Amino acid sequence: MNLAYIGHSECFGHFMGAHHPEAPDRLHAIGDRMIASGMEILVTHYDAPLATFEQLTRVHDPDYVRRIEEAAPKGDESLTWIDGDTAMSKGTLQAARRSAGAAVLAVDLVMTDKHHAAFCCVRPPGHHAERVRAMGFCFFNNIAVGAAHAMEVYGLQRVAILDFDVHHGNGTEDIFKNDERVLFCSSFQHPFYPGTGAECDAPNVVNIPLPKLTTGNEFRAAVEARWLPRVDAFAPQLIMISAGFDGHAEDDMAHFNLREPDYAWITRRLHEMAVKHCRGRIVSCLEGGYHLSSLGRCVSTHVDELIGHA
Ligand SMILES: [Zn+2]
Repeated sequence: MNLAYIGHSECFGHFMGAHHPEAPDRLHAIGDRMIASGMEILVTHYDAPLATFEQLTRVHDPDYVRRIEEAAPKGDESLTWIDGDTAMSKGTLQAARRSAGAAVLAVDLVMTDKHHAAFCCVRPPGHHAERVRAMGFCFFNNIAVGAAHAMEVYGLQRVAILDFDVHHGNGTEDIFKNDERVLFCSSFQHPFYPGTGAECDAPNVVNIPLPKLTTGNEFRAAVEARWLPRVDAFAPQLIMISAGFDGHAEDDMAHFNLREPDYAWITRRLHEMAVKHCRGRIVSCLEGGYHLSSLGRCVSTHVDELIGHA
């Protein structure tokens, strides 16, 4: 069983202006690197379905989902700004529903043993989207929609979500804090956008605030000491990854000094946990990563580790 690789052409149709870093070119860079690295032919491609209203409202307020649906502009060139850095274009709603739907399909594929692991190569990202608020380039919380699907449809009682994006996964924390069925671990630059994460005392949340200029060795030591014992003790039935690569040294969205081997390392460590506890079941969803070359390299490194062990 090889890796399920889930995307959709409509994820290219979301556009927030000519100079916005969360751009369709991110997916082109990843696709190019997948071909150049030879991994394109080693994965099984799937088209992401549209997440349904029912799937979205497991983690978002119904009125919020309706507000996003109604905010979508009709004109080809017009943008509706949701916050200072997050806008909807004509294609955003479809892209956002595909991105969340990718996580749902990924869960279905691993829970029915068609694949051990799945990677959702989608945009917009999701981990900043709270139950009632779009922010930080995110509209629907893709990984949360996937986790809720795993619990609702497959009856899972223990889902671990590991978020190594350089920004705190405030949306995922907002949705699942104090939900004992979910263990949420987030590592992030602090103090930094969105400013959350250092204060949360929910027993199911493990936040690791790290200073700017954090190196790979410091990141690995923190994960080894703080995340992995909690994941091991939790004994997850499914491991989900919010895979953001904006902590790379070449990515100037933030100020970490991580490199490809660090992303390979954490993918491998999480895979070891998945083998030990949940038959290798991993669902990974793309979050951030804005320097196109390093994003492509990091995703192919991450996918290579998932393939190698899928
Ligand atoms: Zn980020």
